[in-house]
Amino acid sequence: MKTSIATSLLLAGMCLSTSAIADKQAHWSYSGPGGPEHWGKLAKEFSTCSTGKNQSPVNLTGMIQGDLSEIKIDYKAGGHEIVNNGHTIQINYKPGSTISVDGHVFELKQFHFHSPSENMIKGHSYPMEAHFVHADQDGNLAVIAVMFNEEKANAGLEKIWAQIPEQAGNAQVLESMVDAGILLPPQREYYRFNGSLTTPPCSEGVWWLVMKQAETASKEQIKKFAHTMHHPNNRPIQAINARVIVE
Ligand SMILES: [Zn+2]
Repeated sequence: MKTSIATSLLLAGMCLSTSAIADKQAHWSYSGPGGPEHWGKLAKEFSTCSTGKNQSPVNLTGMIQGDLSEIKIDYKAGGHEIVNNGHTIQINYKPGSTISVDGHVFELKQFHFHSPSENMIKGHSYPMEAHFVHADQDGNLAVIAVMFNEEKANAGLEKIWAQIPEQAGNAQVLESMVDAGILLPPQREYYRFNGSLTTPPCSEGVWWLVMKQAETASKEQIKKFAHTMHHPNNRPIQAINARVIVE
C-alpha cells in the first residue's frame, strides 16, 4: 500500500512556496524556459513528461464502442478550501466523497480548472475544462473531466469564483462547503481512456473519464479565471500512440 508521489504532490498543492515539496521541485510553467516542451528535462522526476507513451491531454477521436458501466457518484459537500497555486485554481476536498467505476472506488481529493480546455473532443477545444481528481487506497488516480461552453452563467461556479484568491500562493477557506456535484452535467455518459497527469511529473496510469455533455459558464466567469491565471494553463495535446478511447 503506497501513496504515489503524484498523489502527494496533488494533495500538497504543487507549487505553493510554503510547501516543503515545492522547494525541492523544479520550477515549471506554461511558456518560456519552464514550458511544456521542456518539462521532461527540468528534473529527473519529470522525465515521463517527455518519455511517456500514455500522456494527457489528448484529442479524443476514433472512439471505440464499449459497454461502459455507469460511474456511481457519491459526492458530499466537502470542498473546504480554494487555492491559487499559480498553475490553477484548486478546491481541496474533505474525505468522504467517492466515485465507483467497475466496482473500483476512488475518493475525491480536489478539483481545479484549465482555460482553454486541455483535452479536445473530436478536434473541438472548449474555453474551459474542470478536472475532478480522485485517488484509490493504493494511490491510483481517476480524473473526471467536464468541459464548459461559453453560454449562460454557472450557479455553482458563481459561488466558488466569489472567493478566488487573486495572488498566486494564496488560499482561502470557503465560506460554505462546496458540493462538486453542482459542476457535473446532468447526463453522465462519458469517454474513457488511459492517460497521465497533465502537469509535472506527468505520471501515467491515470483513469480518464471525460463527460460527453458540457456544462456552461458565462463569458465573464471564464474571463475571471483566465484573468486570475494571467496565462493559458493548458498543456498541448499529446500523441495518442497505442491507446483507444472507449465510449
Ligand atoms: Zn488538470
